[in-house]
Amino acid sequence: MIVVSKPNTTEEQISEVVHKIQKLGLIPHVVRGQNQYTISILGKTEKLQTSEFAMFPFIENILRISKPFKLAYKMTNPEGTKIKIKNLEIGSDQIIMMAGPCSVESEDQLMRIARAVKQHGATVIRGGAFKPRSSPYSFQGMGMKGLELLKMASEETGLPIISEAMDVEGLKMMMDYVDIIQIGARNMQNFSLLKELGQIDKPVMLKRGMSATIEEWLMSAEYILAGGNRKVLLCERGIRTFDTQYSRNTLDLNAIPILKSLTHLPIVVDPSHGTGYRHLVSPMALAGVAAGGDALIVEVHDKPDEALSDGPQALLPTDFEILMKQLSGLGDVLSRPLLTQIPRKAA
Ligand code: PEP
Ligand code: MN
Repeated sequence: MIVVSKPNTTEEQISEVVHKIQKLGLIPHVVRGQNQYTISILGKTEKLQTSEFAMFPFIENILRISKPFKLAYKMTNPEGTKIKIKNLEIGSDQIIMMAGPCSVESEDQLMRIARAVKQHGATVIRGGAFKPRSSPYSFQGMGMKGLELLKMASEETGLPIISEAMDVEGLKMMMDYVDIIQIGARNMQNFSLLKELGQIDKPVMLKRGMSATIEEWLMSAEYILAGGNRKVLLCERGIRTFDTQYSRNTLDLNAIPILKSLTHLPIVVDPSHGTGYRHLVSPMALAGVAAGGDALIVEVHDKPDEALSDGPQALLPTDFEILMKQLSGLGDVLSRPLLTQIPRKAA
C-alpha cells in the first residue's frame, strides 16, 4: 500500500503516520518528493483498511499495489530517483556516458583508454577487475591490482569508477575503490549477494540476467531496496534470443519504456554486451537513449585485437568520439543534454 500526502505536509505530520504504521506492525518507507511525501507500507497489508488513515487530513491518496515489487514500483517515488555519484546525477535530464575497457589489463592500457574516453566526454570510467568468464582458462581479471589502477585513472581524470563485484569478498575489497558497484548479468539472482548490497551505502548498477524477465529483474532490485539501499540503477544489457549468428545478445529496447512506466529507478543501457559487435554498438546506443535510457555504458579499447576480453564489441576511441557527437545532437532533439564534463559542484 502507498500513502501520498498533500502538498506542504510537514515532517511532523508524516512522523505521525509513520508511527501509526509501525504500531500496526508494518514497515513504512518514506520518500520525500519536491512537494509531497510518499510512504510505502511493507508487510502483511492485505487486511489493512484505508480507513486507518482517515484521521490524517493531510493524506491525499491511498493506493493498493498489486505488483510484487513494492519499493521499485514507480508510485513509490513518482518524481523518479536521482542517484548522485560525486558531482554527477544519474536519473536527471542529462544523459550520462560511462565508458572504458571491458577489463583492466595493465596500467598503460587503462591510462590510455581512460584519457581517450575522458577527452571525448565520458563522465564515468568503466573497467572490470574481477571478470565473470565462461571459461576458467580465460583471463579472470587483475583483482586488487586492477582496482588500484582504476583508482589511479580516476585520480588523474577526475572520473568516478564503475566496476563489477562478483561476490561478497570482492565487494568488500571494492568499497574503498569504486564509486558504483556493477552486478553482472550472471549474478542478477545471486540473492545472498543482493542482500549484502542492501546493506551498503553505495550506488549499485544491477544488470539484467540474460534470460531474466522484467519482473524477475525488478524483484532482484527489490532485494537491494528492501535491505535499505535506495541507490539502484538498472542496466539493460541484452537478452538471449534464438539468433546468435549476427549478434551475441539482443538489446531489449522494449524494456526501456516498459521500465519507465513501472519503476522510478534510473535506466542504463549497455549496447556493447547487448549486441556483441562493434558495428552495432553506436546505432543501439543512440536507440537506447531515444527509447528513454538515462545513461549508457560502452566498452572502448584502442587495441581491440589485443584485448583480453570482449575485443570484438569494443569501440575504437575514434568511433567513440563520433558516437559522442551524435549523442549530443540527439540530446538536443530530446531536450536531454549529454553531459560531457564533470560539474564542479554537485547538481
Ligand atoms: C561486463 O560489463 O564486462 C560484463 C561482463 O557484463 P555482463 O554481466 O552484462 O555480461
Ligand atoms: Mn565486457
